[in-house]
Amino acid sequence: MTALAAAPAPTAPVPKVLRMSPTALSQWGTCPRSWWYAYVLGHRAPQTAAMALGTQLHAEVERYLGGVPWGSAGSMILDARYRDLVAMARAGEQYLRPLVERVAAGHARVEVKAECPPGVVGPLAFSGRIDLVDDVFRLVVDHKTTSDLRAPWHPDAAALAHDPQMLLYASAVLPPGPPVHVAHIRYRTRGDPLAQMVISPDVPWANVEAAREHAAGVSHAMAALASHPADRAAEVEWSPAGCRKFGGCPHAARCPDSPVNRAFRATTAAYAAPPQESHTMSSATAPSNGAAAFNPMSLFGVAPKPTPEVAAVAARAAMPSAVASLLAPSALAVAAVVPPDARPDDVPAIVRAVAAVRALGGWPGARAAASLAAQNGVSPEALTHAATEAGIGPATETPS
Ligand code: SF4
Repeated sequence: MTALAAAPAPTAPVPKVLRMSPTALSQWGTCPRSWWYAYVLGHRAPQTAAMALGTQLHAEVERYLGGVPWGSAGSMILDARYRDLVAMARAGEQYLRPLVERVAAGHARVEVKAECPPGVVGPLAFSGRIDLVDDVFRLVVDHKTTSDLRAPWHPDAAALAHDPQMLLYASAVLPPGPPVHVAHIRYRTRGDPLAQMVISPDVPWANVEAAREHAAGVSHAMAALASHPADRAAEVEWSPAGCRKFGGCPHAARCPDSPVNRAFRATTAAYAAPPQESHTMSSATAPSNGAAAFNPMSLFGVAPKPTPEVAAVAARAAMPSAVASLLAPSALAVAAVVPPDARPDDVPAIVRAVAAVRALGGWPGARAAASLAAQNGVSPEALTHAATEAGIGPATETPS
């Protein structure tokens, strides 16, 4: 796998801080560019409430597997959140109880470190922490928290037999040879407590070796990107698979290929093109001479007064008030693509995002919508409907 077109082999040593972890590997598998933003440029998304809940649930399950009764780490009577957490974890008790016995008998271990120094799985060190390993049964178990057990990104049993994270774990802690068994125990965090176990039994060791080979290729590609310049994001391989995953990619505002920035390019291309005779345009929005340059002010017309929502988005992005005044009425729509950790240097990307969203409701957006629709196999009517649903409003003047 190459992440950088014609990427030269790294000449500088790989920074020690760059390691391959299961999370990094998974992020790379979803979109190499999102990995680069997070691990090379350091745009780490802050820990979310969902992540914190996952950590707490893991701790509770780990205690239970170690023979500690449920709910021993806090006051179930006084702390409603802890009570809910224990209920979520206990939903998996039917799968966990046999494992408690395996741990007590000394056949299984919990919270096992999986570490490989540089050179074993490619040039980067690999490190991870395995929730449970049964050394006798050759079973590897990972606990997963999710708001939706049926979310499409959860691997089923067949996919788990090729899951890079699980197989790398197996490779790191089990001797080679016989088949291994890998399992996810998933705990639902939204709605009534519910858990499910997905197990892939008798995974041939050849799959483990294939996963290791794949990870080594990824490790080489990661190392090649270790010193890739921040201003050349467009050269880094990307995939749309993560753009809308887990509530949206946190790098959407800075990524040139995020849906909103692609929409922006389509919009500006449409705006720069000479207007067709069949369009009717108001003097406020019509370019006087088929303008070749994008002019946000003429796109927006008279800047409206910022609403409280606009002001909130502007404050979050440390955005000048003059820019904020351009945002209404699309602030709520654009808030979805502004990362919570937006910095002042993200402002141009944010403004472009705003422009793209806002433009879908005006004259230039009409042709941009048609262009996007054609690119994505969506009808222009469906796109206009989506814009209306998002509160952006229908195109006021559409091509005839
Ligand atoms: S916005 Fe999409 S393409 Fe860009 S980094 Fe995120 S997941 Fe990758």
